Amino acid sequence: MSPRRSSLPDLLLRARDELLAAVVPPACASCGHVLARAHQLLCDRCRAELPWLGPARCGCCGLPRPCGPPCPARDAAFSAAWAPLAYDGTARRLVAALKFGGALPVAQLMAAQIAAGAPRELLRDVVLVPVPLHPARRRARGFDQAGRIAGALADRSGLPLVRCLRRGGPATRQLGASRATRRASGRLAITVADAVPPRVLLVDDVHTTGATFDACARALRGAGAAEVAAVAYARALRR
Ligand SMILES: [Zn+2]
Ligand SMILES: [Zn+2]
Repeated sequence: MSPRRSSLPDLLLRARDELLAAVVPPACASCGHVLARAHQLLCDRCRAELPWLGPARCGCCGLPRPCGPPCPARDAAFSAAWAPLAYDGTARRLVAALKFGGALPVAQLMAAQIAAGAPRELLRDVVLVPVPLHPARRRARGFDQAGRIAGALADRSGLPLVRCLRRGGPATRQLGASRATRRASGRLAITVADAVPPRVLLVDDVHTTGATFDACARALRGAGAAEVAAVAYARALRR
């Protein structure tokens, strides 16, 4: 016979949970403030301040119009790019929370916001491919953030996911190195490890210069992909 809900062990367990919540209260993943409701990830203020990007966007590079001239994705191997948010404020802090704080439920929130806002054609008949993390970084971190977002997006959308890309080269990348420098120095050594689907949607946390998406798309196209598009949670705006 199962114990009644009000049995002493149940009461003790509930008291323990309440005590734990009082000692380590649930905090906003962006600003760290204590949350009124434990199931939320963001406080009301951070949620209200999410830097949503409007609909007037270049379909190729994902920047608000006008993106150029010239469009920064004019020579890119990916055909389309989109992100729900600007890489700023709350979105920037959420990316850091996922990447460095290991706040994995944040990946679920990111996938939900991508799935809710992405142009329908971007999510139609595609296979999700996460941008690979360098193996040394993955070992150090214990997970890869693009893989987490792509996995959550696959669960939510029903789209298949294939981890067919690998990243080689040095584990550290020069921050601030220009796109041309990074490409020339071979720091974006992307290789294809598995069969490549014909229509790919690359997934990453942040779309910065587009050099990483471009290197991934080039590798995929070289291995037979007919079409490659890219989606990220946040798009860095040029200043
Ligand atoms: Zn907050
Ligand atoms: Zn553009």
